[in-house]
Amino acid sequence: LSGLRELSQAVAHPNILYSDREDVEVPRIPVHQYIYAKIEPFHKYTFTECSVTGRKYTYEEVRVKARNLSKSIVKKLRLQKDDVVAIFLPNIPEYPICCLGIMEAGLAVTTMNPIYTAEEISKQILDSNAKAMITLNQNNLTSTAEAAIKMAKRTLPIVVIKDKECDDLCRSCIDFGELVDTNTDIPDFDHEGLDRMAFLPYSSGTTGLPKGVELTHNNLVSNLCQGAHQDFNKFVSANGNFQEVISAVLPMFHIYGFMVNLLNVATYGTKVVTIPRFHPELYISVLKQHAITAIYAAPPLVLFMIQHPDVRAEYMKNVKFILSAAAPLGSLDEQHFQEKFGDTISITQGYGLTETSPLVTLFPKKYAEETSQPVTGSIGKLLPNTRAKVISLDDPTGPPLGPNEQGELLLKGPQIMKGYHNKPKETEETMLDGWLRTGDIVRYNEDGFLFVTDRLKELIKVKGFQVAPAELEELIRAFPAVEEAAVIGIPHPNHGEVPRAYVVPKKDTSLVPDELDKFVASKVANYKRLSGGIEVVDAIPKTPSGKILRRQLKVMHQQQGR
Ligand code: AMP
Repeated sequence: LSGLRELSQAVAHPNILYSDREDVEVPRIPVHQYIYAKIEPFHKYTFTECSVTGRKYTYEEVRVKARNLSKSIVKKLRLQKDDVVAIFLPNIPEYPICCLGIMEAGLAVTTMNPIYTAEEISKQILDSNAKAMITLNQNNLTSTAEAAIKMAKRTLPIVVIKDKECDDLCRSCIDFGELVDTNTDIPDFDHEGLDRMAFLPYSSGTTGLPKGVELTHNNLVSNLCQGAHQDFNKFVSANGNFQEVISAVLPMFHIYGFMVNLLNVATYGTKVVTIPRFHPELYISVLKQHAITAIYAAPPLVLFMIQHPDVRAEYMKNVKFILSAAAPLGSLDEQHFQEKFGDTISITQGYGLTETSPLVTLFPKKYAEETSQPVTGSIGKLLPNTRAKVISLDDPTGPPLGPNEQGELLLKGPQIMKGYHNKPKETEETMLDGWLRTGDIVRYNEDGFLFVTDRLKELIKVKGFQVAPAELEELIRAFPAVEEAAVIGIPHPNHGEVPRAYVVPKKDTSLVPDELDKFVASKVANYKRLSGGIEVVDAIPKTPSGKILRRQLKVMHQQQGR
């Protein structure tokens, strides 16, 4: 078989990069069924535990409550197959109950950032056409949900999770407890069609506004199987003597946190200590109190661990590995981490996108045996069932580039999204002859290790979170004194990047940058604020067809030496 594959590679094109692992078989079942089958042996183990309140659930409790939710949500809220339900929650122990229950009901989940403003939430309600929302009776989440629904001019039922029993609910809200503790005898949905949408996270992709990314049951199950390949997986299944423990600090609303903190770890019976919001003292206390065995991180968390004196090596003695993904991590930072915490903890990077469910590359466990050259700073190798090609930036339709040549990364594999929700044109632009354009500039070495060297797409990543320049530009243009606007990402030592705006004022008006700054801050989540500054300019550099020349603005900023 491998001979045949080599032959077909040679015929296809020598520079198409195939995963050097044998393909994994992907069962044709919906994602919740895949998870339920895997967790069967772990029923008595704790699945989730809240780091703040101590509220916890075993695997069996999650299974039963998710099933009850799947029945009662459909009956009580009169939902139809394929309807979308929005989850507007921080990382709490009920998160997997909500996601699995919604999927089991034949519905799709769209997740929302819990620090979003009502404006941001209302846009996602409208775009996803969500038919119900689940939120928490805390931190103004319920009132933000109500305001967003009003803004969207929709009537959406709100299901509320009480994190304190004594809490009263507003009269129009539905108590989550009643849905998950009631056994309703309605028939199961039939799960025909694994190419139906299961999950709808949002991403701006290579250009424009945030778009719903349709991930099917098959996409998610495929990615779980790809990551579980024996050469990549470092987890041990829970057994009488041992249980893996992770701290879920990466947000579950984002595909990375959703996959690693919620789905992937469940298949090994891991205990997940949920952290609702990152706070240094809380995070350090979790490290101290729980014998954490693995850490999923984005680069700002790695930097925090390196820099904060109270994150001590002794709290990490059970940690076998730390995986950093979602944004680039400098090779120097990998070294600094290793200096502080020692060589027993491996630190490696992974790479993926919302559009790829998300995992594309990881480091094989025995990577040192697979390369003769240094691979610090690499994102690892392609997961099984995945193909890649690197195309020239000057000649995108030319033949794929070979080792050590830089170009845009294109991908094929069963984890690639079905498409952007209700956006056929944008989907078509992102798929080039069946290959997904990543908008990332990469190279690979002779051993098949990939390196991300730059980003071609507009996307700005602040602390690993997506910021779409188009969204900020639309907002800035709504400010009365602004004629035109362009937003770029500029480097920031701890956040990776921050947004910076260039604005052209309207004729005969005076534009006060401070007021514009406050205006934007009032409309968006904290990390999207224009903390890279606002510069008033005479004109925005553009192509003849009107596309903003962001590279030129980046160069201009570099030359100003800021
Ligand atoms: P998202 O859809 O939010 O997961 O963002 C995906 C994007 O994050 C990718 O296209 C990359 O630009 C960036 N990214 C993810 N992982 C890495 C990594 N390890 N190194 C560099 N960039 C990364």
